[in-house]
Amino acid sequence: MKISIVGTGYVGLVSGACLAELGHEVVCVDLDPSKIEMIASKHPPIYERGLQELLDRNVPARLTATTDLRKAVLESELSMIAVGTPFDGTLIDLKYIRQVAADIGKVLREKAGYHMVVVKSTVVPGTTAEVVLPILEQYSGKKAGKDFGVGMNPEFLREGEAIEDFMHPDRIVLGGIDDRSIDTLDRLYSVFNGVDLVRADPRTAEMIKYTANSLLATLISFSNEIANLCTVQKVDVADVMKGVHLDRRFSPILENGERIKPGFISYLWPGAGFGGSCFPKDVKALVAHGENGGVQMQLLRSVIDVNVRQPHKMIEILEQGIGDIGGVDITVLGVAFKPGTDDIRESPAISVIQGLAARGAKVTAFDPIARKEAEHMLGNSAVFSDTLADAISGAKAILVMTAWPEFKALPDLVGMSKDAPLVVDGRRMLFKSSLHNYAGIGL
Ligand code: NAD
Repeated sequence: MKISIVGTGYVGLVSGACLAELGHEVVCVDLDPSKIEMIASKHPPIYERGLQELLDRNVPARLTATTDLRKAVLESELSMIAVGTPFDGTLIDLKYIRQVAADIGKVLREKAGYHMVVVKSTVVPGTTAEVVLPILEQYSGKKAGKDFGVGMNPEFLREGEAIEDFMHPDRIVLGGIDDRSIDTLDRLYSVFNGVDLVRADPRTAEMIKYTANSLLATLISFSNEIANLCTVQKVDVADVMKGVHLDRRFSPILENGERIKPGFISYLWPGAGFGGSCFPKDVKALVAHGENGGVQMQLLRSVIDVNVRQPHKMIEILEQGIGDIGGVDITVLGVAFKPGTDDIRESPAISVIQGLAARGAKVTAFDPIARKEAEHMLGNSAVFSDTLADAISGAKAILVMTAWPEFKALPDLVGMSKDAPLVVDGRRMLFKSSLHNYAGIGL
């Protein structure tokens, strides 16, 4: 199929590159000309494992990029909307969605034949049918269902695993206002043989995405609340969680005695809080949406509250370990919100670094991938090192904020240093017995 994808960020670009790899003819559209130039010259504007290879193989034969939305929509049969949907402090901010819907609507006015418009961005229930559809009708002067189709196809990719997730989806949700819309989406994804498809109306599709994200965020905040309790109870939350994981409802036992370890149990693990461009804003948006509709959203409100407080636990643990941190050399390892990405949006490391700097600590930071973005955002709050070894040299304490695999070398590196800094493990990724001076969340 000929597809235009409007919004070439993490979701738009990964979807575009993968759909091109699968044989579709894709044009990515963005307002930002620098992104477009980079893609056209096969340079990924974001870090995502495998993306370079996809651009190398598909640009320009099946994947092109442009700022010209009109031409892209005119020359395609399906347009996907993949722009950001931030939280504005009160509600989900749909201004980018509205803008793109209006832009596509104007083009549909002059386009002959049926065109399919699909919302891929995460939007609160009702947005596709009650915001996007009317805008498309208003600007095109045409009728949804008759002249064009409208769909909602949420994206479940995880940054850092985005290409793997897109290429091997758990399920594909085909939300549509009518059978023709759903069938068009079905055709787009017909290349995925054997994947479970969920045919749904747009509201259900929108709700599936929020429910999935909110559940995972709830598991994390649950684990963190238990972790904080364990600290007071003087037990190690890692031992507690390992014991909980062994419930056969969480890790079923096969006939041969082996255990299956479902991915979700990795969310039942303590840490310094969740971040990124999805969980924080999506849970907040759902809470606001629910409460606006008169539903009490107590549980999900608490999920957010626990998460907002959690990064500060790192500073508390640090100060308990070494006292006043004013003028003290502290190293923060990892700024990306999770390993495998350069995304620092809402990363707990940001608030920790800012908190340390506000207390007068001399902060050195290191991230294997996200340095450029982090330096830009943090300004004078931290000095960045080129290597892990440089970053930890001379530190009185080291805070592990992102579970980058390279940080597993820390015990070896710290073991070599004379003055054994305190290591505060914000991801509980290191063996506590492997360091002289170890502290961590939930310990
Ligand atoms: P992003 O901020 O990385 O990218 C959005 C892009 O849209 C930007 O490049 C921006 O320049 C462009 N844009 C904005 N307005 C435009 C316009 N009028 N015309 C053309 N381009 C425009 O966002 P993202 O992380 O890719 O997220 C996009 C959506 O997907 C969000 O709703 C998000 O919640 C959802 N989502 C994200 C992830 C993820 O892991 N990042 C996963 C699943 C779903």
